[in-house]
Amino acid sequence: MAKKSNNQKPHCSFCGRETDNLLQGMDGAYICPDCLQQGNLILQEMGWTQPVKEAKKEEDKALDMDSLPKPEQIKTFLDQYVIGQDEAKRFLSVAVYNHYKRLLQPVSEDGVEIEKSNIILVGPTGTGKTLLAKTIAKMLQVPFTIVDATVLTQAGYVGEDVESLLSRLLQECDYDVKQAERGIVFIDEIDKIARKSDNPSITRDVSGEGVQQALLKLLEGSVVNVPPQGGRKHPEQEFVHVNTQNILFICGGAFDGIERKIGQRLNTQMVGFDSVGQRKRIDKDNLLQYIAPQDLKSFGLIPEIIGRLPILTYLEPLSREALRNILTEPKNAIIKQYVKLLAMDGVRLRFEPAVLDYIVDKAMEYKLGARGLRSLAETVMMDVMFKVPSEHPAEYTVTLDYARRKIEAADMIRLKSGV
Ligand code: ADP
Repeated sequence: MAKKSNNQKPHCSFCGRETDNLLQGMDGAYICPDCLQQGNLILQEMGWTQPVKEAKKEEDKALDMDSLPKPEQIKTFLDQYVIGQDEAKRFLSVAVYNHYKRLLQPVSEDGVEIEKSNIILVGPTGTGKTLLAKTIAKMLQVPFTIVDATVLTQAGYVGEDVESLLSRLLQECDYDVKQAERGIVFIDEIDKIARKSDNPSITRDVSGEGVQQALLKLLEGSVVNVPPQGGRKHPEQEFVHVNTQNILFICGGAFDGIERKIGQRLNTQMVGFDSVGQRKRIDKDNLLQYIAPQDLKSFGLIPEIIGRLPILTYLEPLSREALRNILTEPKNAIIKQYVKLLAMDGVRLRFEPAVLDYIVDKAMEYKLGARGLRSLAETVMMDVMFKVPSEHPAEYTVTLDYARRKIEAADMIRLKSGV
């Protein structure tokens, strides 16, 4: 992005406009987003580039009940990429399917109007929330984008305005507002805008409650002014008006420590239960499965936001078995990727099964989770990938002994920071 020098605003070398949103080239040349877009159109007209999103747009318009994937089909698709997390997959599949149906609903004669049901996914970090979102995006027939709530602040403070969440969605569908208005937005790390303290009056909570209030407007459905290039809203920037009524919002967050709130609530309830002799057994190792809206409130989400996220579901912590499956089962599993890489050198790569167990053991031991599987596997495979292509044997087997030597020699601090 452009830097100012000598207090002078840089200007676009093509149209001469002064603006903060400039891409810098060599020798002090700049280009503004409008000229960039214009240039892109010219290139397309000359047949030098393809309008990438065109085919997708056509698809979007052709939504019809018969061709829509049913929730079970959506889940089967997710199963190919994401291990476990059945509950979250079912909720997501139904939500997406219902979203399509809402878009297709006939003008209501019977007075029944299908309302949208935004979703909130709660689960420890590295259990597949973003992966679920990215995977579902592969099969969606409406525009979809993943945005991060951590960059948001209350209007007027350093950071991005909440409306900029929709800029990415607009970009996804080449600024076709009608398409964007039926899209799906995945807001990651929603827990990071939780209220920091119970008493909002002590200091200004510019990245917490203020942002939630602003987000509420988007979630409940209203016409908002979106800065087309994202970032902050500038008075001189032209806004795009987007109606969020039909946009489905899926939120995800780790909500670190929420188990304590769930535990506290369950304990208080248990006293009541006890007195009427209805004590239920509680699985203390996975309290997340009992999550309820009031826990989100105790964590610092305002009730209005919680009310706009009526579907609450959770992701399980990954078990040893799940981690083992993640290595080999998904369509683009880590191990499959190494096999493919070496197959391109004409080498048949094999792993002793104990190697995979060992990698999982280490991921569990160092609490690296699913993200750590890749850094551990890379540590084992680095030298193999360096040497084997030039030696190119017909076959190469990674043994437990070899894997152990590599990981023991590795710097665990580096491994952990790579997560
Ligand atoms: P988060 O829940 O923090 O959003 P991610 O979805 O980003 O976690 O997961 C990080 C990585 O770990 C993914 O890219 C994927 O490789 C792996 N992973 C996590 N959970 C799963 C899962 N359930 N199935 C398959 N891979 C997973």
